[in-house]
Amino acid sequence: MTGGETGIIYGSQVHRSMGYQGHRSVTKHDGSTKESWYSYICGHCNTKVSGAVVCGYYGEEEPPIKWLLCTNCGNGSVLAKDGNVYPGVPFGPNIDGLPEDVLEAYKEARNCMTVNAFTSCELICRKILMHVAVEKGAKEGDKFATYLSYLEEQGFVTPPMKGWVDLIRQHGNKATHSLESPDKKRAESTLMFTAELLRLIYEMEHMSKQYTEET
Ligand SMILES: [Zn+2]
Repeated sequence: MTGGETGIIYGSQVHRSMGYQGHRSVTKHDGSTKESWYSYICGHCNTKVSGAVVCGYYGEEEPPIKWLLCTNCGNGSVLAKDGNVYPGVPFGPNIDGLPEDVLEAYKEARNCMTVNAFTSCELICRKILMHVAVEKGAKEGDKFATYLSYLEEQGFVTPPMKGWVDLIRQHGNKATHSLESPDKKRAESTLMFTAELLRLIYEMEHMSKQYTEET
């Protein structure tokens, strides 16, 4: 078997999926043709770009594969046979002013959505509540419910917010404790509630500092 071919062995026969067909199918682009550019949203910098196609693999009877370079951040992506660009664009908004631990957890939750890992997304969103409470002074290792009451007592979660913040906890609990199948819509809403909470707790303060520190 030559490099790049994939094979599945059934009995004594090897069935090969259409795969590597030699370097003759690889085309390098120099920017002078229409095929040298590809419009996509870069998963690294979340920007819509007309990216440079470094090279393409144009096999017979199959969709092309293109290696892309972002003209905004200079990072690389791949347009795969399935028509998707990898890495994908993280779901949900960027939130500024997050402490490092919270930022890492929030990024992870957003990335989960790009690979349809809905249960994992909800588990991390629930964990973000814990990160936020501890970052704001709650004692680590307490029962989960105490983190939410702590955020309420300290005024980070106000009465109008309580209902939807509690949904983050409830959805996380379902993801942890029940075997029901993952639900994309629910995971999307869990992530959006989490984003809103982080926006109110961190981003608004971060933004306002730009103005208050000048006076
Ligand atoms: Zn980019």
